[in-house]
Amino acid sequence: MAFILAIDQGTSSSRSIIYDKNANPIAMAQMVFTQYYPHPGWVEHDAEEIWQAQVTVCRQALAQAQLTAKDIAGIGITNQRETTVIWHRKTGKPIYNAIVWQDRRTADSCTQLKDAGLEPMITAKTGLLIDAYFSATKIQWLLNHVEGAREQAERGELAFGTIDSWLVWNLSLGELHITDVSNASRTLLYNIDTLMWDADLLALFNIPASLLPTVKSSCEIYGHTHNEAIGSGIAIAAIAGDQQAALFGQLCIEAGMTKCTYGTGSFLMMNTGSTRVVSTNGLLTTIAWQIGDTVNYALEGSVFIGGALIQWLRDGLSLFAQASDSEALAGSVADNGGIYFVPALTGLGAPHWDANARGAIFGITRGTTAAHITRAALESICFQVDELLQVLSADSGTPILQLRIDGGAAANNLMVQFQADLSAVEIIRSTHLETTALGAAYLAGMAVGLWTVDELKNNWRIDRSFQGILPAQDSILLKQQWLKAVGRSKNWLTENKTG
Ligand code: ADP
Repeated sequence: MAFILAIDQGTSSSRSIIYDKNANPIAMAQMVFTQYYPHPGWVEHDAEEIWQAQVTVCRQALAQAQLTAKDIAGIGITNQRETTVIWHRKTGKPIYNAIVWQDRRTADSCTQLKDAGLEPMITAKTGLLIDAYFSATKIQWLLNHVEGAREQAERGELAFGTIDSWLVWNLSLGELHITDVSNASRTLLYNIDTLMWDADLLALFNIPASLLPTVKSSCEIYGHTHNEAIGSGIAIAAIAGDQQAALFGQLCIEAGMTKCTYGTGSFLMMNTGSTRVVSTNGLLTTIAWQIGDTVNYALEGSVFIGGALIQWLRDGLSLFAQASDSEALAGSVADNGGIYFVPALTGLGAPHWDANARGAIFGITRGTTAAHITRAALESICFQVDELLQVLSADSGTPILQLRIDGGAAANNLMVQFQADLSAVEIIRSTHLETTALGAAYLAGMAVGLWTVDELKNNWRIDRSFQGILPAQDSILLKQQWLKAVGRSKNWLTENKTG
């Protein structure tokens, strides 16, 4: 029993990875599932399909590793956050598709709550902002729109869960209806100071408490699998939301340690230890994890368009065939040639917060080539991350000297070097790229006594580190030009409408 099974249930695919007793991955299986877009701005998943996909990849990974359930010491779960499922307690059948975090159907009800001046109260309790992204208004929508749901909920017949709860319910054949603090802290219903579902918020959103899972720590044996699909008797031993699991997988376990995941977007998270830091710049405060009785808080900031910009250059402009080709193309010119690319394709998030900004490329001359534009696109990912690093540092009062990175785009050496230069930080890229699954595995292995944090620290391997070498005056000039470009892209939609 020296293996850990990590279940990594993402937004576009379900993955399972098996780790050996040294926390090295030995088998991996992955399966894509269906995305439903029933109306503009709506995004749904079929929770049953997610469960079946997860069973399939768990079985495939076990087969690949030539293991069975009895070889697995524990399961660690990490998952897409905020996505909302409600199901019947009796039958285990969902009442409706899962409403995905990206879904905007409840944006208007969020605007009403903001207009009613409720945001400061909600932020004080939850650390979040009022947004359709989080679970509360999604639950409200399901109760109000699915026939009979509200009455059934009031009779205690329904269960709500984020995807972690849904998977654990199925793994335990309905014995466990639980979540962990990191997932609970993304619902807009959980008080991150008292560590309880908040009665005022439940009343405000008109959500019966009987719907809610019991909130547990992120690292303990909650119970065992009873499901023959994967095998009975495996300890279910860890749960953490995806970004929090990645923070743990990067072993950012002390206050001030920060990670950035360069994927479709860029996701930054700073461990703030036992202190709940309040952001004055619109960052989210969230729970990173709870181990034993100790709760760790984090500050979180996201860039909407990161690697997605490279996808757009590839698919929208056909500048190259593969995302990784961007590095050689950008490297074929000495610098950006004066080009600044503001990737506000869906508006700008922290620290600019302008939903009406749109993408723009500035500084084009007759000498501009596809290489300059590609270089500017890669640099724009770094400028956005740099702005969040500055805000994280200001809000927490902690200078960020080292940044641990992962995600598909973190493979781009040119981009990462530019980040180190621009932000004057040491950047560490670990050999483990699947840090999300790794974090869930680390937590599960700790819960079942396979390893301790200190042993994990010794297991930490650096693939490459990058030092900033650009003179400070050069990076100041670059940032000035970037801010000038951002300024000109702002409020584009309104300007356009008013002529
Ligand atoms: P996600 O988990 O968000 O789906 P990944 O971590 O798999 O994303 O990263 C994929 C993203 O990274 C894509 O948007 C892709 O364009 C970008 N990407 C992948 N490889 C590179 C590269 N070498 N250089 C720049 N961007 C890249």
